[in-house]
Amino acid sequence: MFTVRILSYGSALGFRTRYDVRMNTHDSTNRTAIVTGASSGIGEATARLLSQGGYNVVLAARRADRLEALAAELGENALAVPTDVTDPAACEALVARTVERFGALDVLVNNAGIGLYGAIAEADPDDWRKMFDVNVLGVLYTTRAAIRHMLPRGSGDVVFISSVASRRVPNAYGAVYSATKHALSAITEGLRMDMEGKGIRVVSVEPGLVRTEFPMNSYSSAEEYYAQKDYAPLEAEDVAEAVLYAVNQPLSVVVNEILLRPTDQLN
Ligand code: NDP
Repeated sequence: MFTVRILSYGSALGFRTRYDVRMNTHDSTNRTAIVTGASSGIGEATARLLSQGGYNVVLAARRADRLEALAAELGENALAVPTDVTDPAACEALVARTVERFGALDVLVNNAGIGLYGAIAEADPDDWRKMFDVNVLGVLYTTRAAIRHMLPRGSGDVVFISSVASRRVPNAYGAVYSATKHALSAITEGLRMDMEGKGIRVVSVEPGLVRTEFPMNSYSSAEEYYAQKDYAPLEAEDVAEAVLYAVNQPLSVVVNEILLRPTDQLN
């Protein structure tokens, strides 16, 4: 009632108030999100939080058993669509299946990613290819499929789970992983310009260290890896909260970048 009264005062005075801009909002119960990499870590936490926030969620990753278990836990507003993001046709099919099941796609969370660490002189070039395939090309394939659906509707959110490593190289072993995340910064910025005036919001979420299964691709035990650090990592839920904060903004607001670190992480 308070808001309505201010609105009417604003209208009577002939100016657009902050309050009527904030009325330009959306109802998350009617919104649908795809989360890639939803089979573990940040993607799983984000899918769970979006679902709790009223979103329909489409869970994408390669491990179908994990996706099915999460979909069963989240209920009828969740759908598992096993997808390898390195396959452009699979990314197209993911968006098509989402629209078929829920009628539209409002939010894409580009989260799937891998880190294969090693010094450049000793690394296997195949590991570099795998990282670029998932972290860069996979993101492009999925984003292309999603925005082709969003553009005619004039609305949608594209979220990139990037990293602090998109801004700096954390160490010599992380040079190529960091290169993929730097590439993501260029893609994010270019897409933001490309989407100008088209109703599509572009959001980059850049976490520091997060406790997930992520180190297991390069180290024998994730727990041992985190134990070596002299600070505690973020939890996947911390990053999920940042995603929800961004996509739940009024439609007149876009949070373009969120950089979040554990409080004691310096770099
Ligand atoms: P996890 O290893 O827990 O999750 C990675 C997810 O990516 C998994 O669900 C995996 O599913 C999926 N994935 C990998 N390859 C593919 C593929 N080809 N197709 C579809 N899905 C794929 O790690 P995190 O949750 O930590 O990582 C999520 C994102 O967060 C990544 O982009 C990572 O770079 C970023 N990040 C992580 C940080 C950390 O410290 N953990 C810090 C900053 C950013 P499946 O194997 O089932 O396909």
